Amino acid sequence: MVVGRHRKTIAYIDKEAIFSNVQQELQRLNEKTELYAVVKANGYGHGAVEVAKVAKKAGATGFCVAILDEALELREAGFTEPILVLGIVDVRYAELMASNHISVTVSSIKWLHQAEAALAKGNSSAQLAVHVALDTGMGRIGFKTADEVKAVEAWFEKQKRVYFEGIFTHFAKADSPDDQLFKQQIKKFNVLMNNLHQKPRYIHTANSATALWHQESSFNLIRFGIAMYGLNPSGGALTAPYPLKPAMKLITEISYVKQMQAGETIGYGATYTAHENEWIGTLPIGYGDGWRRDLQGQDVLVNGQRCEIVGRICMDQCMIRLPYEVAEGTEVVLVGQSQDETISLQEIADHVHTIHYEIACGLTERIPRKYV
Ligand SMILES: *Cc1c(COP(=O)(O)O)cnc(C)c1O
Repeated sequence: MVVGRHRKTIAYIDKEAIFSNVQQELQRLNEKTELYAVVKANGYGHGAVEVAKVAKKAGATGFCVAILDEALELREAGFTEPILVLGIVDVRYAELMASNHISVTVSSIKWLHQAEAALAKGNSSAQLAVHVALDTGMGRIGFKTADEVKAVEAWFEKQKRVYFEGIFTHFAKADSPDDQLFKQQIKKFNVLMNNLHQKPRYIHTANSATALWHQESSFNLIRFGIAMYGLNPSGGALTAPYPLKPAMKLITEISYVKQMQAGETIGYGATYTAHENEWIGTLPIGYGDGWRRDLQGQDVLVNGQRCEIVGRICMDQCMIRLPYEVAEGTEVVLVGQSQDETISLQEIADHVHTIHYEIACGLTERIPRKYV
């Protein structure tokens, strides 16, 4: 996809904010607990490689991604730190992962058998490091029973190609004031872990929410994602133990200004009718940039003042109602601060009934990311 370098719609990424969020979290961890920065989905839309650089500088000792290509992107960028792929990868890539020192998540014995066979046939002698997923209540991937855990450990002891580097689980409700399911899951995790004779190097359960609000259940590695970007995983239901600094600011500029006559309409479907002679500004951003169509009615900031998006959002443009005639080229803040007003990613997410995760990683490649 092309990057819109000749258009003034830009996502500014504040490296200092990411650095500070990682450091604040590291200060709360004991010396034995490591922090892996989660940079899947292009660093939640912030840019995986740049975020990884900052996180590493701040003290992250490894990275988590969702798919193999994201791990390879980091290796190609020159990172030598451990990388864990959190999703299931086709077993045909076992040797590719082993030779790139990429650790992978495992959720079935069959996969392990096939990986070992593939590695034995391959040219490389590199071991494949795996992290065993335990499903304690997320219902996504992972082994569920004590018998499976015992069988997996016994299998590891029988061969040398696949190395038991870690074991982990993932919580479905670590971000909620209601911690009943969390307690059930941690109990199940501890019961399953008791079946191991020898613990692997890494034991981990914590996403951001677990690290922030259930620190005592974090074991020796945390998978730090959304909070690194300065966003509260609970969406505000719980307060973070330190101030999270949002890293992303989304801005554009007014590309065109005109005065409408009362009765004239705006946009596809003519869903908005001017009541009087209103000043209307056009913005060069639309759903083709991930600025979702259901953001109609959302405010943006012009000179510190809230202005409503009127009419349907188009693929590449949208219109706002201005309080007075504003010069073309004036900066518009879509996410971030303008004078005394702020629009958060949370506000954007609330408007379209989703979570800020989805808005951030939904911003398309067409919007350039600039690092400040
Ligand atoms: C995405 C993901 C994380 C990071 O979650 P955040 O809420 O962004 O901190 C951690 N662990 C797993 C397994 C994930 O898929």
